[in-house]
Amino acid sequence: MKNKRIIDEAEDIRRAVEMVQLGARMQMLEVETRLSREKLLKIYKEVRGVSPPKGMLPFSTDWFMTWQPNVHSSLFMGFHRYFAEAAGLKGLDAIIKSYHLYLDHIEAEQMEPALSLTRAWTLVRFFDADLLQMAPCSCCGGHYVAHAYDPTANFVCGLCNMPSRAGKSKRAVPTRKTRVKAASV
Ligand SMILES: [Zn+2]
Repeated sequence: MKNKRIIDEAEDIRRAVEMVQLGARMQMLEVETRLSREKLLKIYKEVRGVSPPKGMLPFSTDWFMTWQPNVHSSLFMGFHRYFAEAAGLKGLDAIIKSYHLYLDHIEAEQMEPALSLTRAWTLVRFFDADLLQMAPCSCCGGHYVAHAYDPTANFVCGLCNMPSRAGKSKRAVPTRKTRVKAASV
């Protein structure tokens, strides 16, 4: 059994390195691997060259409802649904695959990713806890992240109902073309 444990640890290290490269915070590494905090700190410092930020994750479901984060989160969740439901991937694998695809799309559009890996991970946990749901937009038919118990009958997404300040940064959200691509994965 000793060999098995070494292989498990090697797999955890590989995952931890990938998560740190993608920007994961310590809280995510501690939940998703069985490595000690000391080992995770070492990995973090080796990969990033600095110590991880301290403190709690400030995330609440409300962050995902603000305009730009909602569009990015909805794009990510579209990929996640595909990997979790159609491709049958579970847990961290589905999250990391979806996050890579999200980054590919954001980079193709020459935008800054609004959603960090840790936020994407938190988003999936909120879905697992039934705090959030996907709501269809009554205008464009796309599916968007919404609070679990909000009525969705007349829901209109942030792209169909853009706030006026959104016009200031025209590269703030994925284009309609990207979203269609995302939906058809
Ligand atoms: Zn819409």
